[in-house]
Amino acid sequence: MKLLIMGPPGAGKGTQAEVLVKELGLTHISTGDMFRAAIKEGTEMGKKAKEYMDKGALVPDEVVVGMVKERLSKPDCADSFLLDGFPRTLDQAKALDATLKEMGIQLNGVINIAVPREKLMARLTGRRVCKGCGASYHVIFNQPQVEGRCNGCAGELYQRSDDNEEAVGNRLDVYEAQTQPLINYYIRQGLLLNINGDQEINKVLEEILARLKK
Ligand SMILES: [Zn+2]
Repeated sequence: MKLLIMGPPGAGKGTQAEVLVKELGLTHISTGDMFRAAIKEGTEMGKKAKEYMDKGALVPDEVVVGMVKERLSKPDCADSFLLDGFPRTLDQAKALDATLKEMGIQLNGVINIAVPREKLMARLTGRRVCKGCGASYHVIFNQPQVEGRCNGCAGELYQRSDDNEEAVGNRLDVYEAQTQPLINYYIRQGLLLNINGDQEINKVLEEILARLKK
């Protein structure tokens, strides 16, 4: 099974990817890990990426796609993989497609974990952090024993400025603007599996598995 997975911030994509990889025995390729490994191994593309990163510049799409190609060429990707965190834009998706075609690889599906915006807002703005020790809580999912106080050090809990509604709203806007063309692109290819991410983790997994069987 050769799959991509995508989803907005707060949708639980990371968790779902982990569960899915275990369930189906896929090779998990997260972009962050791939970058670190390519640079550490000093692959051709890893070296190129490092040059950009050392200058504080963005790594161009062709280098990232080159890194994906290097990674997918390894034997552990021959039968199956789950690409996670890439592509993020339509241009990247097109570049990836060209590379996959060249390599003779056909994707089986693109999993999109969808969660209504107001739910994402509630998840992402609910984080509270302890002023004393930095411990992290959530007003819905991980409540402290005493409201507004840290369980560990009794420090005051506060909301970080990048967790407020405006900042989170901006992040979601950017994600949607970037991703909608990508979603349309995979719909047209008949690859998109839209999954309801607004349910329990194992229900999300069940839905993914059922859709993949079809
Ligand atoms: Zn604390």
